[in-house]
Amino acid sequence: MAAWVFATPALAADKPKLVVMFNIDQGRSDYPLPRPDGYGEPPRSGGAYRAFFTEGIVYRNTSYGHSVTTTEPGHMTLVTGGNPDTHGIPRNQWLNRETGEFVNDIYDSRYWILGNTKKTRSQRPGTAPTALLENTGTLGDRLIQSTGGKAKVFSIGMGDWPTIPVAGGEGNAIWYDATSGEFVSSDYFYAKLPSWVENWNKPKPVKRFLEKHLPRDPHTGHWVWELMYDKDFYRNSSRNGPNSIFVKPPCYPSQTNCQYSLDATFNHYLPNKNPQDMEVTNYLMLYTPFADAILGEFAAELVKQEKLGQDDSTDLLMINLASQDWIGHMWGPDSLEHEDNFYRLDATLGGIMTALSTVPKEDLLIVLAADHGVFSIPGYANGRGQSAGQLLTRKVVHRVNSSLLDTYGIGNLAIGIRVPSLYLDVEKILKNRLDVNDVARSAVNTVRNIEGVRYAWTKQDLIDAQPVPADEVKYAALMRKAVDQNPTDRSGEVLIVQKENWYFYEDPNDAAMHGSPYDNDRRVQLMFWGGPLKPGQVERRVHPRDIVPTIAKILGIDPPKASTGEPLQEILHHYGIAHE
Ligand SMILES: [Zn+2]
Repeated sequence: MAAWVFATPALAADKPKLVVMFNIDQGRSDYPLPRPDGYGEPPRSGGAYRAFFTEGIVYRNTSYGHSVTTTEPGHMTLVTGGNPDTHGIPRNQWLNRETGEFVNDIYDSRYWILGNTKKTRSQRPGTAPTALLENTGTLGDRLIQSTGGKAKVFSIGMGDWPTIPVAGGEGNAIWYDATSGEFVSSDYFYAKLPSWVENWNKPKPVKRFLEKHLPRDPHTGHWVWELMYDKDFYRNSSRNGPNSIFVKPPCYPSQTNCQYSLDATFNHYLPNKNPQDMEVTNYLMLYTPFADAILGEFAAELVKQEKLGQDDSTDLLMINLASQDWIGHMWGPDSLEHEDNFYRLDATLGGIMTALSTVPKEDLLIVLAADHGVFSIPGYANGRGQSAGQLLTRKVVHRVNSSLLDTYGIGNLAIGIRVPSLYLDVEKILKNRLDVNDVARSAVNTVRNIEGVRYAWTKQDLIDAQPVPADEVKYAALMRKAVDQNPTDRSGEVLIVQKENWYFYEDPNDAAMHGSPYDNDRRVQLMFWGGPLKPGQVERRVHPRDIVPTIAKILGIDPPKASTGEPLQEILHHYGIAHE
């Protein structure tokens, strides 16, 4: 396949009638996996990646322009075209300065789940995208506003976040609730759950899906997740054994009080004898490729029921596929589980693309993007001879608190960490007539001396662009983009960068991790397919924030307020839109 070259300008193409975004959680840039049969070859499942590679435009050098490579900031970049400095979501949680407690990005006690759930309001108070909307709308919001409400915009996923904020203020979010095993929404989005969703939930969708697609173990009757291909086919085939390092099986209901878990190695079993078993399976299924697969079937039903792409107003469907992230965290990206999931993801995406064939290809634009990458389990990287390690956030907070106690004679000045932010108790600092940035600088000195930490700066010094040594310039710039610089001011007083291959663990039960400003986490997949696009590969460096302004340009609408990306000229070219 030829590398991208500029040909003569294309004739103006029609706007797409349907734009679909596959948001692949943990979609590191080096998948499709390098395999014995050739790097970059589409997998033989013959699913979506083959289509992207042979008919679409593949960006080979896509890298996040901020240093907080975690799910929520990434997804918000994918739908607003900005980094956290403008979209204002620095993590999925941040400190509420008034209550001193960490709040979730979908916290809004005015709204609640619509549909069947066993969650309580105290567990998750509210389900609305209002935290994002304090700073910006999304591409979907712009689309709905520009069509006088005619455009249909949906965000679907296997959990409430990030599905909810991805929908924006004016779109609709529908997601899987693992406590009930059904698809639900919020009374922010709907007065009543659409009747087709209610019908989808009858009979129980998980049972229906697994019964149809999974074999049963002949002795126990449990559903079996077995390898899709012969074991020899797998690049990671030698890495699945009883002494494997990948022994962090997900467990129900929690890691510490394990009633039932998936096994450390293949095969994996999902129980189904009674309602209690099904409760377990509704949850454990998230750690299997079948979470994405059931979402794929739901997406196909949505396209049909909501008649997406069938009229002249462009519709937008965002599908948040997260199996890869759940599996990557638990077994690591080098595991057989991860590789098997990748082939099954390819087939799931291929199935969605088949369902989308009700819309002619020239009227369809599909974008495949990702929120962040991932790094190996540190112990596995050590075995490979790499220096790698875990930083437990509660230990870092403890170190900072003892050092600040020594310096100022005041205890507990640090409240907690939501990577990369360390939050200080600003109220307490001011009450003691201390300067917040002075205390933060003192914390920076302590943090910089912790093993595994590379840099730290105060938020104030970053925002003021205080000079830093030459080797810190690149990472300080990436961190500045990761700091919420809106009046919402959600970032902590100290921002931390770990050493390469070192990872912060807020939950010590996770095996592999992401979140760093290094290539494993920042470099992600980006591919386009459909409409007038002709196949090509692009080697120049682009950013995920460029997607939204590109689509906005194709649709002839303004990008959202937070957007700072540059439209991708290789895509616009085929639509006959001149690059300014
Ligand atoms: Zn993620």
